[in-house]
Amino acid sequence: MAKQGFTTGIVHSDRIAGAEHGSLRQPIHTSVQYGFERVEDLIGVFQGTKKGGFNYARQGTPTTAALERKITALEEGTGTICFSTGMAAITATFLTLLRAGDHLVSSRYVFGNTNSLFGTLRTLGIEVTTVDASDAENVKNAIRPNTRMVFVETIANPGTQIPDLQGIGNACRERGIAYVVDNTITSPALFKPKAVGASLVINSLTKTIAGHGAALGGAVTDTGLFDWSAYPNIADAYRQTAAKDQGLMQIRKKGLRDMGASLSSEQAHSIAMGAETLALRVKQSSDNALALAQFLEGHDAIGKVFYPGLKSHPQYEVAQALFKGASWLLSFELRNAQRMIDVVNALKLPIKATGLGDTRTLIIPVAPTIFFEAGAETRKAMGISDGMLRLSVGIEEIDDLLEDFSQALKLAA
Ligand SMILES: *Cc1c(COP(=O)(O)O)cnc(C)c1O
Repeated sequence: MAKQGFTTGIVHSDRIAGAEHGSLRQPIHTSVQYGFERVEDLIGVFQGTKKGGFNYARQGTPTTAALERKITALEEGTGTICFSTGMAAITATFLTLLRAGDHLVSSRYVFGNTNSLFGTLRTLGIEVTTVDASDAENVKNAIRPNTRMVFVETIANPGTQIPDLQGIGNACRERGIAYVVDNTITSPALFKPKAVGASLVINSLTKTIAGHGAALGGAVTDTGLFDWSAYPNIADAYRQTAAKDQGLMQIRKKGLRDMGASLSSEQAHSIAMGAETLALRVKQSSDNALALAQFLEGHDAIGKVFYPGLKSHPQYEVAQALFKGASWLLSFELRNAQRMIDVVNALKLPIKATGLGDTRTLIIPVAPTIFFEAGAETRKAMGISDGMLRLSVGIEEIDDLLEDFSQALKLAA
């Protein structure tokens, strides 16, 4: 059979994998322990010689494993590990693959909590350099002999900067450096980081993959492109397994089993249900975001609009070349920042809330909330003005959104 489409794969995967009683969806397995008739099988699960077995739910359940298979298929990878949150997936990746004395190069424009995590890595003796990654030369210039990993996000929040994803991929491949791409804002519906040479792909499942804002989760997927046998930080215990599996094996054992930020079966089920409509939702919310961005760009009360689907965006060409759509993340500035509170309060549809990738449109003023703790200096360095508003555009009908913004922006003059 020809290779199946994206949504065909998601909606049929549980049934094809043989869920019990002909169930179309993987059931919610709540058991913590898994028992065996023969002790040899219990031993086999512990030693990894009995494939696909479970022993204790902290390391996975049939329900989380079904979600892992789904994410692996979406990213066209070789394997996935799910965690309780996106931050848990990122933390486990850094802490299990980097050691004191190692060096990490990251884009300067990353999720605020990831940036805060870099501070923690520094206290543990891991050096972190952040650069403007829209030019791969900046990344190359930051690489040192002890650089083990490069980390970027596909589209940065809130400023929508896009790294030179392909150029950085080439540089990492030539040097044998692990290339970790956080795909949360694009999701595999718009972009597969494997296409630019990513070693590992991170997704916060909380966002657009679940889409309903009713479950937290995170995932790390191995693309199969990286040679773990040449990576110095794999423990001897995991060198026994096939080279392609060593990275995820170490993340599962050290990051999931030992650190324990496990995804529950209930949440995995809820995320898997949301994921069925991923491509449809992302299409609608990206189309909405583009229309809204064009409307805002033409409006007198608006200063800058940050959206990679606009020709005025500095990385418009990159977005066109690599992404199927420019996503649902859109930021803009009011010319008159002092009118911000009134304008936001006048909006009837967008919910005043943090969060991303929801079916409902969400709006938040950036400086006094998500970037408040970062301080004025960091905000300035990141290009975040006092009047910046961030939108996570939902799947409402576009006419309703445009009408609502039109009426609210009358207060901005
Ligand atoms: C939200 C987000 C995360 C963290 O995900 P959680 O599931 O909220 O922990 C990481 N990276 C990006 C780009 C995000 O937007």
